[in-house]
Amino acid sequence: MNPTLDDLLALKPNISKEEQDLITNAFHYSQKAHMGQLRNSGEPYFTHVFATAKILAEMNADPITISAGLLHDLVEDTATTAEELQKHFGNEIVTLVEGVTKLGHLKYQGVERHAESLRKFFIASANDIRVVTIKLADRLHNISTLEHVPPEKRKRIALETLEIYARLADRLGMGKMKAQLEDYAFPFAYPEEYVVTKKILDAFTTEGEQHLTQVAENLREELRILDANITSLNYRMKHLYSLWNKLKVFNYDQTKIFDIYALRILVPTVGDCYQALGIIHGLYKPLPGKFKDYIAVPKPNGYQSLHTAVFDGQGSIIEIQIRTEAMHEDAEYGIYSHVGYKEAGRTASGMNNPNPNKKVSWTQELLEAQRHMEKPEDFLTHLKLDFFQARVFVYTPKGDVIELAKGSTVIDFAYAIHSDIGNHMFGARVNGKMIAIDTVVHQGDVVEIITTEKSKPTRKWLDMCKTTLAKQQIRRYLREHGNVLDKMLL
Ligand code: MN
Repeated sequence: MNPTLDDLLALKPNISKEEQDLITNAFHYSQKAHMGQLRNSGEPYFTHVFATAKILAEMNADPITISAGLLHDLVEDTATTAEELQKHFGNEIVTLVEGVTKLGHLKYQGVERHAESLRKFFIASANDIRVVTIKLADRLHNISTLEHVPPEKRKRIALETLEIYARLADRLGMGKMKAQLEDYAFPFAYPEEYVVTKKILDAFTTEGEQHLTQVAENLREELRILDANITSLNYRMKHLYSLWNKLKVFNYDQTKIFDIYALRILVPTVGDCYQALGIIHGLYKPLPGKFKDYIAVPKPNGYQSLHTAVFDGQGSIIEIQIRTEAMHEDAEYGIYSHVGYKEAGRTASGMNNPNPNKKVSWTQELLEAQRHMEKPEDFLTHLKLDFFQARVFVYTPKGDVIELAKGSTVIDFAYAIHSDIGNHMFGARVNGKMIAIDTVVHQGDVVEIITTEKSKPTRKWLDMCKTTLAKQQIRRYLREHGNVLDKMLL
């Protein structure tokens, strides 16, 4: 790849001169700072930060985020300091770069039960959705070049990508980002399953494609005759990783999976969606129980569409998805969708924003979204401060994140890792310093538990911890191994 400024600017044709200058400055500044550094692939390091910025531009991020994408590895990997960056690019960009640098230190060690904590911590410590977005773009480029990473590291990075990054992209409604992260990571995380899944998909490709094209042509014709508006009608193939997830659910019985292919119909307005649905159900018999109205009832991440499955009259079942272009944008890019359509089926027209290139303030969108989402399962409600105010996120020396209630002590931490660690705790270090085991832990502390074979809990510990888990484990230990008094008093 030969990174050129023009390639990048071409992706943002409607920005101001000032914004162009910002990206231009960031481009040259970063190129100079990374001069001489090479990637594992042997390419200049700058190709990585350039690719990151390009991904951001393609997903319609704003010029500040794109510039921060170009600069995101400077503080970590070059001689450039945060102060210098701040002098050149101001507070906002330096805050974003520092946020990305901080997130870079988080590591997923394959401890499945901590994955959700890590995801929450990721959002909480990023403190700004733009930081998460840059980190996602950074990861997308890194995972797409994973074959250049030493083999022993690949699996961990691939699992982390699936468990943390792709799941976050999904919750932020960035469907395209999610699918790409998953498909790059899949072969490295689960090589054998990947081969099986790929074979199944390939078989369908040769078998089903022509047939499907036929149905699409037919529908295009019928929908035109009946005066429904179609902006685009094509089919999408299920991406590999999501196909594998579905195969697992159905015990690898492919005949149960109807949506390996789906016809996707984009129409201008919400009204057109329902009209098209009516026409299709008139032409092809719908499969009972398969119709889903995600327009009236969007998925928790905001996804909207009508889904149905129909018998095509030739012995096959075909899944059909109908949505407006605006909904499609939303599904692909989440908060970076530039159509600005957020009215959940209430307006007749999805195209209610006449200027799609209007600068979108993501903060406004996020706040808007937060105001409108009141269902408890909504991810964004988890972003509300009160949630995070009640929790602390603490690291193990290996970088695992442990989530604890506020006010938890080192004892709680030890039991949260494993009961054996708690039951043999001798002492602890917090941020490198020896401390008492009843010390309250704080956000971001690195806690190292020192164990010895002979150490064991005492009754006093019960008053020195906060979580139910720790108290239960201590009681259980004392009941089983404690002295007579312990057993009497418990
Ligand atoms: Mn990077």
